[in-house]
Amino acid sequence: MAKVKRLCVYCGASDQVDGAYREAAEELGRRLADAGIELIYGGGRIGLMGRLADAVLLGGGRVTGIIPGHLHDREIGHHGASELIVVGSMHERKQLMFERADAFAVLPGGLGTIEETFEIITWKQLRLHDKPIVIIDVAGYWRRLQALIDHVVDEGFASRQAYSLFHVADTVDALFGVLAGSPEPTLEPEAKLI
Ligand code: AMP
Repeated sequence: MAKVKRLCVYCGASDQVDGAYREAAEELGRRLADAGIELIYGGGRIGLMGRLADAVLLGGGRVTGIIPGHLHDREIGHHGASELIVVGSMHERKQLMFERADAFAVLPGGLGTIEETFEIITWKQLRLHDKPIVIIDVAGYWRRLQALIDHVVDEGFASRQAYSLFHVADTVDALFGVLAGSPEPTLEPEAKLI
């Protein structure tokens, strides 16, 4: 588990969701703190995002939140974070989250989470980076996303190599196994991505 020092996690800003998803966010936070892995995330206090960050902080871990100024009130910028960076736009947020992380994990989330997930996968497809990406399929939440990707591949809009761009872990525990077995990223980003 030595290689990944800073994990970027994408997840939902809603808290009106099944307890299994909330518990997974808290479990991931605890495990990151125990493993000494810094959390890089969107900087909000609400939903799974807030639960995740709070669990890391409670466990004595380090959290960097990156939030655009215009979302600071809506998502409630987390001033308890070890570092809270307020940026000017969504694009700056995503760029900085990307630059700061060694790897990416995806918990259940909504449209924002889906957008961020596909962006980081497609940047990898474009060979702009080679960092591990792990979708955590808590209680089968992302099964339909996998079915959509199957459909895209079956219909010829992506090659089977698309499956090598990301991993799927069934549980938070399995995430750590995947990260431990992932090769070191080899590519430096070729250019500013956005
Ligand atoms: P959601 O998954 O919709 O609950 O959103 C989770 C996080 O994704 C929130 O912090 C949103 O601000 C963020 N988000 C929403 N849309 C985008 C986007 N286009 N790019 C980056 N982040 C986004």
